[in-house]
Amino acid sequence: MSDIADLIGSRFEWMSRDELISWQCEALRRSVAQAAKSRWYAAKFREMGLDPSSIKSVEDIKRLPFTTKEDLRQSYPDGMLTIDREDVIRVHTSSGTTGTPTAILHSRADIDCWAELMARCLAMSGATKADVFQNMSGYGMFTGGLGLHYGAERLGMMVLPAGPGNTARQIKLIRDFHVTCIHATPSYAMHVAERMISEGDDPSSLGLKRAFLGAEPYTEEMRQKLQELYGFKAFNSYGLSEMNGPGVAFECPEQNGMHVWEDAYLVEIVDPDTLEPVEEGEVGELVMTTLRREAMPLIRYRTRDLTCILPGDCPCGRKHRRLARMMGRSDDMLIVRGVNVFPSQIEEVIMRHKWIGGNYLIRLTKAEALDQMTVQVELARSEFDGSVETLRNLRAQLQKELREQVGFNVSVEVLEPGSLPASEGKAKRVVDERA
Ligand code: ADP
Ligand code: ZN
Repeated sequence: MSDIADLIGSRFEWMSRDELISWQCEALRRSVAQAAKSRWYAAKFREMGLDPSSIKSVEDIKRLPFTTKEDLRQSYPDGMLTIDREDVIRVHTSSGTTGTPTAILHSRADIDCWAELMARCLAMSGATKADVFQNMSGYGMFTGGLGLHYGAERLGMMVLPAGPGNTARQIKLIRDFHVTCIHATPSYAMHVAERMISEGDDPSSLGLKRAFLGAEPYTEEMRQKLQELYGFKAFNSYGLSEMNGPGVAFECPEQNGMHVWEDAYLVEIVDPDTLEPVEEGEVGELVMTTLRREAMPLIRYRTRDLTCILPGDCPCGRKHRRLARMMGRSDDMLIVRGVNVFPSQIEEVIMRHKWIGGNYLIRLTKAEALDQMTVQVELARSEFDGSVETLRNLRAQLQKELREQVGFNVSVEVLEPGSLPASEGKAKRVVDERA
């Protein structure tokens, strides 16, 4: 059997629930024993009086400690390393979206396993070695570049390691090499499309078949808009550097939730305040334990990402459970006039309107001790008739819908196309000037 056939028909990909759970019990035992070899976990287990060999099944996970981003920062750079330094072949760090980056060290087996998981994702989308893949994600310490790269090569696709930015060159490469699949942040994919439209070009003329979009939260509405503009099928891709990077959870052709590879990750959804498991199907914080990592296993890592497990089986037949689209991180939640608001709620409203472009910015200010939210959007050139009257109506309509969505008055500023800062990687959607 060739490598690729092995990946697509991987014994892990099609495991039954029973097979998965019995694998997980054994893998968890192994991971905990491995973690105990690191200075950090050895000290932690000792402090808790926990005997790693007493962990025997998935149920025992509750007795294990949580690991936080702060723990990773404290043990930086190698306090959680379990193997000889000379057996480490790669270091990645997180993007540092919410503070000091964290570092993850990988052995050869880890890089290999990551490539396998990633290739499994890409194959699941229907991509094959006949596809041509352009990776618009940042190479370097960020995991989106090399993560997708190794996975795509493992599948045998021809890979263009374009990296982010230089939009004119991205478009030229896609055309010159008949690229069929791209990987980008949704915000960058939107920027490329709008740039093409503003130049009288048509994104659907690129002939792209699939896009793998992730690394930042986005709404179903944003996906729909991108699919319409490009005519490709967009697959949601979730990962974080602490869990390798991309390749953790990915959509199948049903495009309804992301299968999380449960042979490699033990998933819990907990209430972020009590840290108790939530009821099935309820939203909570995603907590993950690595099951197949050698150099730096992480136990009950608190991702701070909010999601839920979708109930029921996926029609595709895979038994790895599905995560719902991320609502965002717990720290993305804005508290405005005492009301909890996620940027995704604003995006959902914006994306419904054809006359607005895909870029937006939420500004928070204070006026006489009262929080003010201003949403800045751009006109979509092709959809606007140019009349002031239309503009006034559109703005009023958007304000009304936003008020209905969040429950307080939001002001809307409609800007010229291209006025807002464009993103090449993770978009910055919020500017908080209240402090
Ligand atoms: P940082 O945590 O510094 O941003 P990473 O580059 O590791 O570093 O980013 C991982 C984070 O990106 C995830 O924890 C999550 O918040 C976000 N993310 C990744 N993929 C998605 C996705 N498909 N949907 C929503 N958020 C995502
Ligand atoms: Zn499926």
